[in-house]
Amino acid sequence: MKRGFLLVVSGPSGVGKGTVLHDLMNTQKNLVYSVSATTRNKREGEIDGISYFFIDKNDFEKMIENDEFLEYAHVHNNYYGTPKHFVEKKIEEGKIVILEIDVQGAMNIKRNTDNGVFVFLAPPSLKELKNRIVKRGTESVEDIKIRMNNAIGELKYIDEYDYLVVNDHLNSAINSVNEIINAEKHKVSRSNYNFKEESEI
Ligand code: 5GP
Repeated sequence: MKRGFLLVVSGPSGVGKGTVLHDLMNTQKNLVYSVSATTRNKREGEIDGISYFFIDKNDFEKMIENDEFLEYAHVHNNYYGTPKHFVEKKIEEGKIVILEIDVQGAMNIKRNTDNGVFVFLAPPSLKELKNRIVKRGTESVEDIKIRMNNAIGELKYIDEYDYLVVNDHLNSAINSVNEIINAEKHKVSRSNYNFKEESEI
């Protein structure tokens, strides 16, 4: 069976990664979302096992010791990590596995695999990004400051990615990521197409 690949999507907190990816999951066949583990508090509306696996610091550190993460990082004063087993299984099944992770995690994956497609989702401006985070209403003033500082750091990594999508208008951002996935699916290097010379001509 043809192996799948990793679709690594990064971008500052509040840029709309969740919304774009949620829509893609409904339209693209063969996509699966890798649910990360985190030590951060659950936000209103988030569901354990769907949004994240919400675990405490001790359990997270045990998982690190047991080598259960494909990658993990310390982001905004919390741990976030990608459980390895699920991703490896789905790639073997031929799925496209979405990793919605920060730039540190993405760079780790880039160093350790040649099977990743790296997409950076950027805001049209920092001002607009701040508006979106404030509007979401889930972060304290202190947290918003941390996230805005982080955003500036993350934007410096754009050159390390394969594709840049600016999330100015939601539908056009979704279309762009769709096009990227379609193009990547058709890469010759991913194909197992085989023609037989003796076929009836
Ligand atoms: P949030 O707290 O807003 O859900 O996520 C904060 C940041 O952590 C986002 O940039 C998000 O992409 C990143 N993140 C979520 N899961 C993971 C993960 O498993 N690994 C890494 N490295 N970053 C993650």
